[in-house]
Amino acid sequence: MTELRKTHHWVVANGYRVRVTAFALASLPIGLHILPHGHGPGVWALLVLQFLIYPHLIYWGTRKAAHSERAELNSMFVDAVMCGIWAAGLGFPSWISAALFLANLLNHTIARGAPGVLICIMAFAAGTLASTTVIAFHVSTDTNGLVTLSSMIALATYLSLIGIEFFAYIRQLHQVQDSLDQQRTTLEGANAILHDQIGKIHDLQEKLREQANRDSLTGLFNRRYLEGTLERELARCRREGAPLSMVLLDIDHFKLVNDTYGHQAGDEVLRVFGRLLLEHARAEDIVCRYGGEEFLLVLPKMPLDIAFERAAQLLKIFQETVVSYGDLRIRITASIGIAATPGHSDSVEGLIRCADQALYQAKRNGRNLVMVYGDGAPRGGTA
Ligand code: GH3
Ligand code: MG
Ligand code: MG
Repeated sequence: MTELRKTHHWVVANGYRVRVTAFALASLPIGLHILPHGHGPGVWALLVLQFLIYPHLIYWGTRKAAHSERAELNSMFVDAVMCGIWAAGLGFPSWISAALFLANLLNHTIARGAPGVLICIMAFAAGTLASTTVIAFHVSTDTNGLVTLSSMIALATYLSLIGIEFFAYIRQLHQVQDSLDQQRTTLEGANAILHDQIGKIHDLQEKLREQANRDSLTGLFNRRYLEGTLERELARCRREGAPLSMVLLDIDHFKLVNDTYGHQAGDEVLRVFGRLLLEHARAEDIVCRYGGEEFLLVLPKMPLDIAFERAAQLLKIFQETVVSYGDLRIRITASIGIAATPGHSDSVEGLIRCADQALYQAKRNGRNLVMVYGDGAPRGGTA
């Protein structure tokens, strides 16, 4: 049977088992019913052929069919026609006819669902009609006690067998359902863990990206970040017809701070310097540690004049700031160079070069100064 399940549609294997059992069970009450009538060997041969050999022949034919499932459903139809012929041929003995019809009805509904009811009735009726055209129509519903009892037993046995088979089938389905439920729960758990881990990975990636763009000492953006952003900012300002100012700051005599107070005190000065720049920046400004003690402010949509005022303010703030490091009190100043679009340059490199030259001028002019690129002398009020 297992082999059959593997090679044929389940309806075929099932049909074979059901047909062999059902017809064998039916042969007993029918045999008992015709026994007292003293029929010749022809009738008995027909009985054996129909109820004991026919199921195997049908199976043999179904197995060979190209579409075995359809062939099995056709065979089921033939079963019902045959049973109709026998019921009518025997004169509709009540228990035998009922058992034959009910067994066929059960088979049809199991294989076809609701439409099976109608198909079974049609096939059974066709069988009775065929029979009454060959043998004269006669009705003799009575069955003796033994036939009635054997019919009852045959029907009950058949129904029980089908019930037991379906019980096992349904239990198996429940087990499969339970195992699927378990697998789904496990998968859902694994999925939740996976989602969680993906979330953590995303967070970590975000942190890494952030760290890669930040200077570890001051927390300001680093030069790497600037490389990606400056072109974009400049293009945006150009598109919107807005200016962009660039302010380059360099702490004065910072080497001296290191030499006098130590490298760590120098680090603290850089931290404070960075914090001051951040505190006085707008949200859209980019504050960046450009080199050792050099810082760059990118000020989108800020014209040169305003940038100059901002730089002058910063210069004042630096002058007034005292950096505390332990017992040390350190004062610093810075020099600032400014360049801006439009006017000084249209490119990032050009702007930085201009700001650097202005810064160089500020250093040359005595430090603690703001110089705008192209100005021969410091603007008023900056020294
Ligand atoms: P100037 O006024 O001309 O700018 O002189 P300066 O001394 O500031 O410039 P210089 O380029 O001679 O020296 C810069 C110093 O900054 C040298 C270097 O050791 C120091 N420096 C660079 N990065 C760091 C840092 O991260 N921490 C500390 N403490 N010092 C640094
Ligand atoms: Mg420097
Ligand atoms: Mg310096």
